Amino acid sequence: MKKEKLVILGGGESGVGAALLGKEKGYEVFLSDSSKLKSALRAELLSTGISFEEEGHTLDLLRDADVLIKSPGIPDKVEIVQRLIKIGKSPISEIEFASWFVPEVPVVAITGSNGKTTTTSLIYEILVAAGGNVGLGGNIGKSFARLLLEEPKDAYVLELSSFQLDGIDDFQPDVAVITNVTPDHLDRYEYKMENYLESKFRIALNQNSEDWLILCDDDEMTKLYLRGNKMNANEIFFSQGPDPKREGGFRRFSELILRHQGKQVILHTAKMNLRGMHNHYNVMASALAALVIGVEPEVIEKAVYSFSALAHRMEEVGQIDGVTYINDSKATNVDSVWYALDAVEGPVIWLLGGVDKGNNYQDLMGIAVDRVKAIIAIGAENEKILEAFQGHIPQILEIQSMPEVVEAASKLAISGDTVLLSPACASFDFYRNYIDRGDQFRMEVGKLSTSLK
Ligand code: ADP
Repeated sequence: MKKEKLVILGGGESGVGAALLGKEKGYEVFLSDSSKLKSALRAELLSTGISFEEEGHTLDLLRDADVLIKSPGIPDKVEIVQRLIKIGKSPISEIEFASWFVPEVPVVAITGSNGKTTTTSLIYEILVAAGGNVGLGGNIGKSFARLLLEEPKDAYVLELSSFQLDGIDDFQPDVAVITNVTPDHLDRYEYKMENYLESKFRIALNQNSEDWLILCDDDEMTKLYLRGNKMNANEIFFSQGPDPKREGGFRRFSELILRHQGKQVILHTAKMNLRGMHNHYNVMASALAALVIGVEPEVIEKAVYSFSALAHRMEEVGQIDGVTYINDSKATNVDSVWYALDAVEGPVIWLLGGVDKGNNYQDLMGIAVDRVKAIIAIGAENEKILEAFQGHIPQILEIQSMPEVVEAASKLAISGDTVLLSPACASFDFYRNYIDRGDQFRMEVGKLSTSLK
């Protein structure tokens, strides 16, 4: 029998993962990338004998695909995708492809505008604490396809972006979480919030009455969607408002309470290492997911208390002369910055700016006026920031190089203040990515503390 042909556009982690899985499953695989492949990924293709092309696509090599996978990084509008669609080849995502080969174990999938990585990692840690051999991946770390090449797991916990969800047809997670939906990536959704919202809810597209959908009851967009659409899965909500009568998650004073089918988890916020109200949401979503899978409440409580902030997400990187330095470089949209400002006690010196993705800074005005004593605008172009905050925040400086930024911040700060890197913008003006930006910040703060010794 002739082998089915699997064609993959994009040779990043997900594309190469899909190629390796496809080969293992007996497909004839061809991978095509418009740029050069990373050398480690290229080496994997070479060593497994998978054919590929780089720095350009050859339509003739792609057109007879039986299955076409497109990397989530490639928008539908690029020419090669349009040409393939025109000849009847509609692309799927690597997540969809991998899901065809999942063993019968729980799959937990997490999406949302903010909090995906934190929630995904926390669910993973809880399941590991419960003794599971758990696969963690998707939009972070290993691709889903690559996880399926490893030894079989007891459960898979997957972070999913809206771009990955755009390419699913049949993917059906047993437990799905939507942390929240606030504006982000609108450039890929014709600047229409409803398209982006629709895309996030694709996570529940194929769910049925045996599956679970965990949602934030305080999220306006989530509620808007639910008003117009009926879900097939069992819905469970979490909220910061008390509603002790029903199942789900709610907050009572300084406790988060999660209930599901007669089991109850009580979490004391004072015992948690994670800062900020946003993390209370993430914790509630994670604890509910674990309860649904059947993890015992004591295990969940212990695992939540021992979980610390991930790097670049409200990560404390120094305490110098009474000043706290926080690296929240991953905050690349307005909503995440709102929670960062809300989470900090005392006056803030706020490091803000970079590549603006269409921010509306008015949404931050109230909390900024309340908390911020000085802004250091760190982007290549800061006009929008200056325009928004001049006259509202006592002091605004523009400084671009990180050593000078941190030095200036340390001079402005007095004991009790917080220096917060929470830029609300992408980092590509001066840095490789948000990790590079956060690492440089951490390093400069480190130098401050050694120079004081
Ligand atoms: P994602 O993977 O969705 O980008 P992360 O967990 O990496 O989410 O967090 C990204 C940024 O958003 C960080 O600045 C973090 O502090 C903030 N954040 C985390 N969880 C939430 C939430 N539930 N709501 C709003 N902001 C959040």
